[in-house]
Amino acid sequence: MEEFFGLTLSRLEAQIGALGKEKYRARQLFRWVYNQGNLDFREMTNIPKSLRSVFSEMFSLDTMPIAEERSSRDGSTKLALVTRDAHVIEVVIMPEKSRVTLCVSTQIGCRMGCRFCVTGKIGFKRNLSAAEIVGQVITAREYLRKAGKSPVTNIVFMGMGEPMDNIDNVATALDILKDQSGLDLSYRKITLSSVGLVDGLKTLSAKSAVIAISLNAADDETRSMLMPINRLYSIGRIMDFARGFKGTKRTRITFEYILIKGVNDSLDDAKRLADLLTGVKCKINLIPYNPSSYTEFERPERGEVDRFHQYLIERYFTVIIRDSRGQDVGGACGQLGMGYLGGAPDPAAPDTKETTASEVTS
Ligand code: SF4
Repeated sequence: MEEFFGLTLSRLEAQIGALGKEKYRARQLFRWVYNQGNLDFREMTNIPKSLRSVFSEMFSLDTMPIAEERSSRDGSTKLALVTRDAHVIEVVIMPEKSRVTLCVSTQIGCRMGCRFCVTGKIGFKRNLSAAEIVGQVITAREYLRKAGKSPVTNIVFMGMGEPMDNIDNVATALDILKDQSGLDLSYRKITLSSVGLVDGLKTLSAKSAVIAISLNAADDETRSMLMPINRLYSIGRIMDFARGFKGTKRTRITFEYILIKGVNDSLDDAKRLADLLTGVKCKINLIPYNPSSYTEFERPERGEVDRFHQYLIERYFTVIIRDSRGQDVGGACGQLGMGYLGGAPDPAAPDTKETTASEVTS
């Protein structure tokens, strides 16, 4: 039986066409499943009963079992979803005033080995299939529907794994998530975050998602220490890509900069960052580091964060301080996958009262 959530509309049309049936049935299925949110073939009443029965034997609409659900003090929820081969994928639901963002994973573990990231410590287990990527979205949607909560409006590919290292499956998942007969998510509702694998970004940015690049340092020495992939995809290569990126104000690249105490949080670092990004159409997200007993770094004091922020504002950048959600449940940026290391969320993680991101536009 094939997993429905891994099929693009065109592949579904081909499969249904191969049965000798009308191709428009594929669009009807897409509408039922993604648009109407109905996962029961028996209820798809505009499709003949005999065909519904064929579809129910051909395609699986099973969501992923939820092994664990942890609610943060800040309102976000981390779900541990179980794959068919018994791996665990963690997704984080983050409600805000006017939207609900879902952070999805693209791999089990990760081979990028960023030193500040728990997922990087796990190592690489395997890529997630397109069905598993879309399945996270549908499972979270079902979870929210049953809980009577608002549905997901935005998706960020910032969970476990590097999306560009699983580019084919991510591209297929994007096609499915954006299909107008289905969830119809516009490019502004989807953010792809990458350590800067620019070859993949060049391919996928054509798919029109918002691009976020995890930069974290403005000099190669510091960045290579934090992110070994920098030896292959250096800051210079990333800047070449960023300068050539044809985005509008809305699609300009976001640079993520995790502020780590004593490593990249000085005023000199802020100046280097400002010099590097001058002339590049971009937005900067400053993310105070989320400590974990599995990584060696510390979070800067709030005053240091504010000083860094203020410097960039004075250099006329659009800067947001983004305190990650779900730190108390191991659901924050760089914390996913603790279960693979045998651990629980760090009880010493800082309190996470909802922090309003202070956005300053130049
Ligand atoms: S930060 Fe992202 S790319 Fe780096 S190790 Fe963690 S999951 Fe992988």
